[in-house]
Amino acid sequence: MIPPQFDCVRTRTVEEAVSALAGSGNAKLLAGGQSFLPILRLRLAYPDVIVDLGRTAGMWGIRDDGDELVIGAMTTHYEVMTSDLVRRHCGLLAKATSTVADPQVRHRGTFGGALSHADPAGDLPAVALAFGTTMVVAGPDGRREVPASEFFADYLQTALGPADVLVEVRVPKLGGGNGWGYRYEKFQRVAQSWAIVGVAALVRRSGDVIDEARLGLVNMGATPLRATAAEDALAGARANAGAVADAAVLAAEGTSPPSDLSGQADYRRHLVRALTQSAVLAAAGIQTAG
Ligand SMILES: Cc1cc2nc3c(=O)[nH]c(=O)nc-3n(C[C@H](O)[C@H](O)[C@H](O)COP(=O)(O)OP(=O)(O)OC[C@H]3O[C@@H](n4cnc5c(N)ncnc54)[C@H](O)[C@@H]3O)c2cc1C
Repeated sequence: MIPPQFDCVRTRTVEEAVSALAGSGNAKLLAGGQSFLPILRLRLAYPDVIVDLGRTAGMWGIRDDGDELVIGAMTTHYEVMTSDLVRRHCGLLAKATSTVADPQVRHRGTFGGALSHADPAGDLPAVALAFGTTMVVAGPDGRREVPASEFFADYLQTALGPADVLVEVRVPKLGGGNGWGYRYEKFQRVAQSWAIVGVAALVRRSGDVIDEARLGLVNMGATPLRATAAEDALAGARANAGAVADAAVLAAEGTSPPSDLSGQADYRRHLVRALTQSAVLAAAGIQTAG
């Protein structure tokens, strides 16, 4: 379908983008366009103005900042998954990003666009939640930081206001020789498609004991979720297959998965238990017989 008519503004700075949003009653940002352009073409949105971030400075690239990596919101999926810094310090993010869609989408779609779109079936919001990332947001009153735990508000809704721009994302270095192991388990009908259910696992282990587990769940509710009951059961548990299986049984607690053509809610609850078990075993480096 042909999208509705709109004006287009191409901004050079983040401040210009914020003013362009604030100056119109109904403006929308355009990043990689991989989610937004289909929405326009289906006429699910009728913006008066589209603010194109494609040439906006200060929103690109990946830098090392002590205990965190800072990733510009306009950094593409391809750049994230092939970055040496991301692979070395935040391997879970590189791995999960490599499962997003296909090469064309990964070359256009952006990290910030995926988080701002906040699709609970998307791979990256759950990963951001597991890491405990911080979103750096520019708005009419200046910049502020929003933790991932407060960012994802509801289905396709975030803490971003109508004149806010997600500028960059601070990702803690978890996974990469500092005791943290990781695994991303994505169950999909065919390769390069959306997750029916996904589990992002970060596990810190000391010898025979699991110190901490951080588990992000994809497509198990209106927002990305943490599997907090399973995380609590894993904290301080023995690092063996039995303890992991017992904890994984709790992975669906507090979730409200959808029922759709790809699977009923009960099936998703079953999947999340199985995927949590295998993700935690792999992240903790626990060998199982067979
Ligand atoms: C065929 C196909 C398959 C896909 N499969 C997957 C998949 O398997 N897993 C997955 O996770 N994703 C998948 N996606 C989605 C893909 O990851 C998109 O790139 C992503 O959701 C949106 O990123 P974008 O840069 O294209 O954002 P856009 O489409 O440009 O924008 C998306 C929304 O975010 C807003 N926005 C964008 N940037 C900002 C910002 N900096 N600040 C504030 N708001 C902003 C826009 O206004 C818009 O509302 C798929 C997409 C397609 C087309």
